[in-house]
Amino acid sequence: MARFLVIYTGGTIGMKMGEQGLAPDRDTVIHALDGFKSQMDFDLHLCDPLIDSSAITLQHWFDLIELIRECHQQYMGVLVIHGTDTLAYTASILTFFLQDIAKKIVLTGAQYPLGHPNSDGLINLQRAIDVLIKTDIQDVLIVFGDKLLKGTDATKVDTVSYGAFDAVFESPLGIFSEEGLLLTDQNRLIQKPDDILAQPKKLNVQLKIATYILTPGINSTLIAHSLLNEPTHAAILLSFGNGNIPQSPVLIQAITQYTQTGRVLMNKSQVFKGVMNDVYAQSSALYQAGAKMAGNVTLEALMAKLLFELS
Ligand code: ASP
Repeated sequence: MARFLVIYTGGTIGMKMGEQGLAPDRDTVIHALDGFKSQMDFDLHLCDPLIDSSAITLQHWFDLIELIRECHQQYMGVLVIHGTDTLAYTASILTFFLQDIAKKIVLTGAQYPLGHPNSDGLINLQRAIDVLIKTDIQDVLIVFGDKLLKGTDATKVDTVSYGAFDAVFESPLGIFSEEGLLLTDQNRLIQKPDDILAQPKKLNVQLKIATYILTPGINSTLIAHSLLNEPTHAAILLSFGNGNIPQSPVLIQAITQYTQTGRVLMNKSQVFKGVMNDVYAQSSALYQAGAKMAGNVTLEALMAKLLFELS
């Protein structure tokens, strides 16, 4: 039997109720994985400490990337069991930073802990393991609920139902039903990121990327102030509609100064499926100020791409 690496980073799937609320627990996941030993030969790595994924930092990502990079040759693929809050960010990070090793990496988690009577933990684990052992997709994938998603095209859309994640710009890669996994388009499964790189890159954990969300009112002034005063390396501006911003000379002035110091400011729509273009006069000043259009990309993938390019 081929061997796999299973990494548990933390997250609801293995959580137990404590005095302050749900918190990760080592034994819950170890016990659940025992039930899969007849299906898959694996080594288990428990991150220390286990975290609620909302607490993830660049250092956690660095450690995860390096862990997989160091031992990937011993394994056919990797299962990352992760909290749902930032799972889509981690999937994008692993896609960019491990693109040179062309490995099958599957991320999953659960909305309800394994000990909960209605937990989705076991079914998500089973489906993730099926994808690992029965398909030969060399990519970073998310298995959650009834969907198989591309790591760079997924976002958390629900905090209650079993379908916590959805594809954003493309359709899911596959759908699970009682008959098993139905792949939607075989051709997309062999795609790799455009710029496949030969040399590995290490994530620079000192990078500071700011993300700002525009709302009507005071926010443009606050964003302008932050752009001018915070020592960031890049910024993402979540704008309206196709990439539009309010009438705000202060913000335009700040963006001009920001980009003139050689820093990149990406303009990305805050709309869920926000297809970007510059058809509106309202946003022309933004591009004249040096902002770049992010294109059709999730926030998670855009952040990962910036971290990758700046590292
Ligand atoms: N707060 C949890 C986490 O991200 C949520 C979950 O796993 O569903 O770790």
